[in-house]
Amino acid sequence: MQNETSSNISRGNDESWPEGVVARYLTAAGATVVLTFDEPTGVIRTTCGGELCHWTGHTDTEGLIEDTSEKAQERFNEWLPIAQRRAQEHAEKCRSLPRPA
Ligand SMILES: [Zn+2]
Repeated sequence: MQNETSSNISRGNDESWPEGVVARYLTAAGATVVLTFDEPTGVIRTTCGGELCHWTGHTDTEGLIEDTSEKAQERFNEWLPIAQRRAQEHAEKCRSLPRPA
């Protein structure tokens, strides 16, 4: 048995998330599905970090160019559960391992 280093155990918790990242889901294989909101286009994107997985989700909140930031946020809240479900479903069955950093 080798000793685990503490840096491995705390991974993912204390590192700060990139801007725009709303949520992250741990897949069955230990990769990460990232959920981001692209406000200018009004699209919630979900991307799987599993190597060669290439799965992406695309949830259009049907934003309009004249939307205010509040309106965009409102649409985002409306569509978020759908995007979350897609990310969750993929995370549960994806077996693609993340490439070691
Ligand atoms: Zn995947």
